[in-house]
Amino acid sequence: MGSTKAQESPIDTGAPVDHDPGNDSITAALDVIGDRWSLLVLRGVFRGLYRFGELRDDLGIASNLLTTRLKRLVDEGILDKVEYCERPARYEYRLTPAGRDLSPVLVSLMQWGDLHRNDGQQPTVLAHVQCGAPIHNINQCSHCRVGVDPVDIRRMEHN
Ligand SMILES: [Zn+2]
Repeated sequence: MGSTKAQESPIDTGAPVDHDPGNDSITAALDVIGDRWSLLVLRGVFRGLYRFGELRDDLGIASNLLTTRLKRLVDEGILDKVEYCERPARYEYRLTPAGRDLSPVLVSLMQWGDLHRNDGQQPTVLAHVQCGAPIHNINQCSHCRVGVDPVDIRRMEHN
């Protein structure tokens, strides 16, 4: 009959955490992408690194760690494992629609890092792959005036 048990009871409607959909949604999202390596793997895929070796070399991640992250992202419906070679069987990892929807999350993290943790470096500029114009609003290319597909966004190189 302690207070802790009362808070966990399903008939106790007074617990705000259980009834705040925003809070639950963030928790659910973090269950999928709250892991540092998982986010970095996704960053790589958004940058066009689709194959195991490419991601491993880019991240400097141990193969077993990359294997578990890729499997989890596939299991969670964020990445599709697509065979690109039959003999021998080789696979690459492509973003699902749910994975593409994480683009604003990664862009926001990048922009926050540029703003608050950039050590005096120039902020990252994103560009539309098709025309090369810088993208200020990730929902629309300022040059083409069309919606930008998340996989068509690349970092511009500073000269
Ligand atoms: Zn454009």
